[in-house]
Amino acid sequence: PGGILDCQATPTEEIDMPFAIRMHQAGGPEVMSWEEVEVGDPAPTEARVRHAAVGLNYIDIYHRTGLYPLPLPSGLGLEAAGVVEAVGSTVTDLRPGDRVAYAGGPVGAYSQVRCLPADRLLKVPDAIDFRTAAAMMLQGLTSAYLLRRTCRVEAGDAVLIHAAAGGVGLIACQWAKALGATVIGTVSNDAKAALATAHGCDHVIHYTREDFARRVREITGGAGVRVVYDGVGKDTFAGSLDSLQTCGMLVSFGNASGPVPPFDPLLLSQKGSLFLTRPTLMHYTAKRADLVALGSELFDVVGAGKVRIEVNQTYPLADVANAHRDLEARKHTGSTVLLP
Ligand code: NDP
Repeated sequence: PGGILDCQATPTEEIDMPFAIRMHQAGGPEVMSWEEVEVGDPAPTEARVRHAAVGLNYIDIYHRTGLYPLPLPSGLGLEAAGVVEAVGSTVTDLRPGDRVAYAGGPVGAYSQVRCLPADRLLKVPDAIDFRTAAAMMLQGLTSAYLLRRTCRVEAGDAVLIHAAAGGVGLIACQWAKALGATVIGTVSNDAKAALATAHGCDHVIHYTREDFARRVREITGGAGVRVVYDGVGKDTFAGSLDSLQTCGMLVSFGNASGPVPPFDPLLLSQKGSLFLTRPTLMHYTAKRADLVALGSELFDVVGAGKVRIEVNQTYPLADVANAHRDLEARKHTGSTVLLP
């Protein structure tokens, strides 16, 4: 099959037919199939990137199951790191050979090679390897906007971070601790509790067997926390509201246990003039300047050793179905990388 994959920027290079994960219908892990795909030259504003490592994120499950519907058929995945192979005619700040990473749309990161908008790419500092880069972009940029933009955490704040031993959790707990906060984390088992404690949590609550809102009141001397970061959703929403101080903020940013049901805003008044926001990384990085600023804050805290990126699971990309099963079964801790 000549021609189609040849790239003008590397005309003599033989490019094998690459593979990617595709889905033709929403559903269980089995709907993801490993298929040969055609990847042509980048459009004028795009770059073609050969992936060295791909990040696994909970949002990939929402896309696969249809909770967040995708037009089908579709690729999957929002995060990867690799090497630029070719750039479109209007791209001036990247060149073949650059080490890059990204987090965010369009979907299609579950692939060996792809083209995507060049303005979504960040150059990866030399000290950060590809697996770490692929593991840290989406969960790290999320931690960055949650802690530095949505509610700016200050020294002395008490904060509650759910699923503290998860991907976002381990990064956010370390970062909040580095900012001088008192960090309370929730986890579902003892191994996760130990991990959360080793990554910045001052207090760990087993939320599957304890009333976490009551524990938060005890820990904070009755006051409650200034902010709750809640990526768990349905199971924790009510308790999260009950954990806040007067005028505190609930940042509901995910649905690992299912989406939060409709609720009455009057509750916010009754529970202490609370603030509620339901943010997404896509809005906080929609402008290139915001993406670059958050990325540099993230690279700084990782470079300074304030936040360690823990790649605790790896899978072949072709075996991503098992990675999804394990993530849904709460078997993972920290970040997970898929190897293309
Ligand atoms: P995690 O690694 O945190 O995995 C999810 C964790 O949620 C599990 O490990 C588990 O921890 C906990 N959990 C609680 N209840 C359930 C349940 N019923 N089923 C499965 N897991 C459960 O994933 P990520 O770090 O990738 O993402 C964390 C959350 O943040 C997700 O909801 C994700 O969608 C959201 N997110 C939102 C973004 C945004 O911009 N809005 C961006 C990035 C992530 P435990 O066993 O300790 O309870």
